[in-house]
Amino acid sequence: KTITAEEIRQSVKEENVKFLRLMFTDVNGIIKNVEVPVSQLEKVLTNKIAFDGSSIDGFVRIEESDMRLYPDFDTWLLFPWGNEHGKVARLICSVHKSDGTPFAGDPRNNLIRVVDKMKKAGFSAFNIGPEPEFFLFKLDENGQPTTKLNDKGSYFDFAPLDLGENCRRDIVLELEKMGFEVEASHHEVAPGQHEIDFKYADALAAADNIQTFKLVVKSIARKYGLYATFMPKPLQGINGSGMHINMSLFTDEKNNAFFSETGDDQLSETAMHFLAGLLEHARGLTAINNPTVNSYKRLVPGFEAPVYIAWSGTNRSPLIRVPQSRGLSTRLELRSVDPTANPYLAIAAILEAGLDGVSNGLTPEDAIDRNIYRMQDTERKANHIQDLPSTLHNALKDLSKDPVIKGALGEHLYQSFKDSKNLEWAAYRQSVSEWERDQYLELY
Ligand code: GLN
Ligand code: MG
Ligand code: MG
Ligand code: MG
Repeated sequence: KTITAEEIRQSVKEENVKFLRLMFTDVNGIIKNVEVPVSQLEKVLTNKIAFDGSSIDGFVRIEESDMRLYPDFDTWLLFPWGNEHGKVARLICSVHKSDGTPFAGDPRNNLIRVVDKMKKAGFSAFNIGPEPEFFLFKLDENGQPTTKLNDKGSYFDFAPLDLGENCRRDIVLELEKMGFEVEASHHEVAPGQHEIDFKYADALAAADNIQTFKLVVKSIARKYGLYATFMPKPLQGINGSGMHINMSLFTDEKNNAFFSETGDDQLSETAMHFLAGLLEHARGLTAINNPTVNSYKRLVPGFEAPVYIAWSGTNRSPLIRVPQSRGLSTRLELRSVDPTANPYLAIAAILEAGLDGVSNGLTPEDAIDRNIYRMQDTERKANHIQDLPSTLHNALKDLSKDPVIKGALGEHLYQSFKDSKNLEWAAYRQSVSEWERDQYLELY
């Protein structure tokens, strides 16, 4: 799909668009908006909307703060809500410096760079099918989020246990109106927890979709007096929320490079090398895929989230699973990622890790088809099964030791990511939790 400036002008007229929302994403994955009235349309279309980059996390210092928004016309979308006085449309933008060059600290520009690199390596698309999970909590009488659940449902339950169902159904309808192809939507294992899976898309579009998805989910939930959160582990003792990433490399529209009619288990050598790259860089990737202190409360045994670095074709517990489908749907599923990951950074880092495996012809350790959680430490060691970093701090250390993953971010983004996350860790280290007081106050 390619949308022209003329088509956007046309759509503005026909649909009575009154406001244009220009979106981009900061280093922490937070969506930023600049909203302008439609009178500014020509400026928008000619990359003339400027903003002060110094106030955005991970962007620039005051001296070089004049940034410009370059809209990607293909992301033109009418929001289906809040339109009594005319509609609101959005464009996702790339951030450029005032001299017109792409700004290296923009996660979206960086993903475009890594995808270009992939194209030079002979692939046409990196298709990503995400499986975001989230919780719906009640809002209190002041409209503030609580941690009160609104249902007692569980995996694949039906109403009346699944009271979030109407809200989820409305989310799906709105997503479809916005052009998403929703493939599945269901109640997840934990009460109040839901998952909506939408059709795969090429790296950049997939990252854009994930950002749009979060926005839609949060907006619709509010209409139901609910609060949607993508926090990885909002409640202790029940499953957290992940965002499994299904991925495949294509050489052209009709050729999935992970599939081979004659390969072992019909997986190509490319698939095995890519898989080996993911395993090789699993620790270095973790800070990007699980970027919050809370992410590591999800990556513990017993809640269907991965803890160990291994892969399997049959078993659902490992870090990487090879789902059964073959042909064009042949894919790898990385199960560690959670929805706090900046999708532009995560997809760039995952792609770079896999391509490193491909270009170096890496081969993975054997698949582990047994329950890794029931193995003794010694047995895991004998099978060369390492664990994922257990804290944000350890993950950042592993990232600092992985030049491939650092390279996937580029110098500017690596620095701003590291600075931001080190601050987060330092703040967390100083906090004293309820758990500690419960544990120690009376005992000592
Ligand atoms: N919620 C689980 C996680 O944290 C995944 C559960 C599932 O999709 N089977 O990853
Ligand atoms: Mg799923
Ligand atoms: Mg799930
Ligand atoms: Mg899954």
